[in-house]
Amino acid sequence: MIEYESLAQANRPLMEELEAAASRVIRSGWYILGNEVSSFEAEFATFAESKHCISVANGLDALILSIEALDLPKGSEVMVASNTYIATILAILRAGHKAVLVEPERETFNMDPERLPAALTPDTRAICVTHLFGKACRMTEITAFASEHGLQVIEDCAQSHGARYDGRLTGTFGIGGCFSFYPTKNLGALGDAGAIVTDDDEFADRLRHMRNYGSKKKYENVYIGVNSRLDEMQAAFLRVKLRHLDQVTDHKRALANLYFAHLPEWLTQPLRRSSEYDVFHIFGIRHPARDELRQWLLDHGVKTEIHYPIAPHRQKAMQGILSGNYPIADELHATELSLPISAGHSSDEIERVCSLFAALPDNLKLTA
Ligand SMILES: *Cc1c(COP(=O)(O)O)cnc(C)c1O
Repeated sequence: MIEYESLAQANRPLMEELEAAASRVIRSGWYILGNEVSSFEAEFATFAESKHCISVANGLDALILSIEALDLPKGSEVMVASNTYIATILAILRAGHKAVLVEPERETFNMDPERLPAALTPDTRAICVTHLFGKACRMTEITAFASEHGLQVIEDCAQSHGARYDGRLTGTFGIGGCFSFYPTKNLGALGDAGAIVTDDDEFADRLRHMRNYGSKKKYENVYIGVNSRLDEMQAAFLRVKLRHLDQVTDHKRALANLYFAHLPEWLTQPLRRSSEYDVFHIFGIRHPARDELRQWLLDHGVKTEIHYPIAPHRQKAMQGILSGNYPIADELHATELSLPISAGHSSDEIERVCSLFAALPDNLKLTA
């Protein structure tokens, strides 16, 4: 069986370094907001080509706190892709604003900049883009639209560590780039973790307060903050994993190249554009009989995933909150299938997946 993902296998080569990091933290006697966190923040800021990195407890909090730190009037409208992972939308709602869904490009799964003008109202204050599957959104057009209309830009980079648009890193286009280090992400901790990167001193200072009870100086509370701190143990693990991130990205890009070289031409595959440096958090193909294809692959020893089975506007939790029709989101959710592409997979395994596609029965040779 080829698993979709095996974290044990992906982390095995780092076992000694991770155990040494854990031991160092345990022995230090300092477990919250210490040297590991400040070192990780400095190291990740360097990686992210940003002035500041503020670590938090998870990716959702990175998004919520960033949107709160914009200090927008209550009830502002924030544009977001109709097919994003639910966290991006939850963050807008949790921050007290209205999520306005913008349909994606079918070919890239990313927010379609051509659709921004139609979604603009006098209440629009921000755009929250998601660089889905490790592919950058068309940031030149999106940031031009934002500055023309005085909108803030927040980037959900939970799937795009190291991805670039026109040579520039995702997370550096808007005021804040929000990262998740959930264990399956390209840079994953061994538990929950997240961070925000920014070049804006004031924004960074506010976030540093907000993640720690609104306080930077013990027992002095400046904002209505929360407890969303990264712990020393996860920071120590992330410092190890960060040193190997470029290797992980190179590996995933090499596996993607194998797919592009060996998957059949009729299959609807991820779009590659010269402007985008993709990091392939997910390798998402599209297929009109996705569920049948998925079952056939499973019967033949390959596990796959669906990102995501239910569109945000179809979620029970969003009834009466996200209204309107989103046919492209519906179509993408009905046709997407994610093939194995993790740090733990070998070229051999990916070639075996490709050879299965060559052996597909004719009734499954369908283009989306
Ligand atoms: C994983 C993810 C998040 C949330 O991150 P957590 O660390 O799980 O809170 C947000 N947005 C996107 C696009 C994600 O993939």
